[in-house]
Amino acid sequence: MTEWLEEDYNPQNRFDEINKVEPEFWKKKKLEQMNKTEWELLCDGCGKCCLNKLEIRGKIKFTNTHCRFLDKQTCLCKIYEYRFKKVHDCRDINLEAVREQPRWLPKTCAYWLLDNGYELPEWHPLISGTASSVHSSGMSLQNRNIISESGVSDFENHIIEWEDL
Ligand code: SF4
Ligand code: SF4
Repeated sequence: MTEWLEEDYNPQNRFDEINKVEPEFWKKKKLEQMNKTEWELLCDGCGKCCLNKLEIRGKIKFTNTHCRFLDKQTCLCKIYEYRFKKVHDCRDINLEAVREQPRWLPKTCAYWLLDNGYELPEWHPLISGTASSVHSSGMSLQNRNIISESGVSDFENHIIEWEDL
């Protein structure tokens, strides 16, 4: 199967779609009112939803293990177009996922923030105008101590308590 992430893929291209949507749409629309382009633009590209998690006594615990299809450098999915076919527990980020309890998206996730009455942070690409701000601000998985899930069986020994999860 062809991998979706091309070597010369430029994440900035996705945020350039902002010229096609209503200015500051995220301040004017609820999540359920957004069209597909707006919805996709909301994702900050942090990659943190692709960390493996455990549910322990009703709470979600993140681990520092990531889905084997996450590209650690770009923090993007290598098989985005085929992800649901290839990874049985890959979750679609839809309204239901955003509102699920216990919360399993990181607390910096743009969908979760907006749905809970918060504003987008200054490092969000829609605010900064550049896709790389999620990395330069340290809010993505880039340069963090994470490992691929491949070969990991003791996920409970990989639980992390980062402040931005
Ligand atoms: S956590 Fe939210 S904002 Fe970050 S990559 Fe996942 S869906 Fe996008
Ligand atoms: S398959 Fe799903 S969980 Fe894995 S990297 Fe892609 S989007 Fe993330």
